[in-house]
Amino acid sequence: MENPVHHFRHPHPLSLRKFNQPGRKCHMCQRQLDLDATVYGCERCSFFLHRACAKFQQQIIHPFHPHHTLAYLDESPYDNETYCSVCSEKIKHAIYHCEETNCQFDLDLGCAALTPSKKYADRVAELQGNHQHALILRDKPNEFYDFYYFCSRCYELIVDDKLIFACLECKCLLDESCAAQGREIKHPFHPDHPLKLQPVNSVSPAKCSVCASTDPALFEERAPRLDYYHRQEHQVGDN
Ligand SMILES: [Zn+2]
Ligand SMILES: [Zn+2]
Ligand SMILES: [Zn+2]
Ligand SMILES: [Zn+2]
Ligand SMILES: [Zn+2]
Ligand SMILES: [Zn+2]
Ligand SMILES: [Zn+2]
Repeated sequence: MENPVHHFRHPHPLSLRKFNQPGRKCHMCQRQLDLDATVYGCERCSFFLHRACAKFQQQIIHPFHPHHTLAYLDESPYDNETYCSVCSEKIKHAIYHCEETNCQFDLDLGCAALTPSKKYADRVAELQGNHQHALILRDKPNEFYDFYYFCSRCYELIVDDKLIFACLECKCLLDESCAAQGREIKHPFHPDHPLKLQPVNSVSPAKCSVCASTDPALFEERAPRLDYYHRQEHQVGDN
């Protein structure tokens, strides 16, 4: 067993233990903890953290946003809905927020736990295939498997031993095969216009800018991430 650790969220040292208090949530990410998972905790206060979450500090310098310090907050500082600047998913709880005015750079904890690859750094151009944006790869599987990552394009879980591509321009996470497919696709649900990968929260409401289709079939379950695709040569959305 490892030594107790100190964490900025709690005044007492935390030690590794088997989690046995069903229904309690991690005090960092607010997700349920799995029974019998190995967690960091203070039994006396019923304070528990995923092992991955125990590694977070109050302020971080993150390679996805290297020029400013990001600060941990329990919830979004904005009045409106907040989306992760890397994966575009809605941030419901904890957030790493850049406090620089007008920066609007925010990370959910999953993306904050991603680190760019050292191993693949000089192969990015080759690995990103047709995508042609600077993509950053996850170096190695999250060592504790405490976060789950989904491909923004096919919405499949990116299993732990697979590469993750993060494109800061498209604001998405991609698995290897979706990264290789490039940014533009033809899709059977919307055959008339090619669709391009874009950050989902840049489009409000989600629609094709050429024909203004908001056909739910484009954006729903069967094509869950098609809201990322819009024809880029045209103005998209209304703001
Ligand atoms: Zn957690
Ligand atoms: Zn305590
Ligand atoms: Zn994210
Ligand atoms: Zn910033
Ligand atoms: Zn995919
Ligand atoms: Zn991109
Ligand atoms: Zn269209």
